[in-house]
Amino acid sequence: MSAKEALYDLRKTHGLTQDDMAEKVCVTRQAVSRWENGETIPNVDTLKTISKEFNVTIDSILGQSQERVCQSCAMPLTKLEEHGTSEDGDLSTEYCSHCYSDGEFTNERTMDEMIETNLRFLSEWNKGQSTNYSEDEAREILKVHLATLKRWKDK
Ligand SMILES: [Zn+2]
Repeated sequence: MSAKEALYDLRKTHGLTQDDMAEKVCVTRQAVSRWENGETIPNVDTLKTISKEFNVTIDSILGQSQERVCQSCAMPLTKLEEHGTSEDGDLSTEYCSHCYSDGEFTNERTMDEMIETNLRFLSEWNKGQSTNYSEDEAREILKVHLATLKRWKDK
């Protein structure tokens, strides 16, 4: 189950409207709606509040939503602190903290510039995946891979 499904289920199980839910965990109704649309996930403070109010673990709320990569730079989003923030202070489900903050990209870049930035981490990348790509090979792979991500797909 993903975070959006878990949060929706939790609300429905308790027979709450989005307004009730928002009031219970001290956020706006729009924030609840964004969670359930999968646009954001609650920030750490809100996750703690939800966990306490509903007597559920934070892991059970987050579910599988962690198995994602940043839709700008392709970094895996494995920890909460790696997620970027939306304008209401919740966490982006799509972008990492380096690429996205307060609802905006932290940098104006082209995809080619992003690829060159990523290539600076080539040795870590090779180590992490037990590969041994040359810079040229990695550049070709990144060109194909980044073009599938949301930020670059329609460019
Ligand atoms: Zn990123």
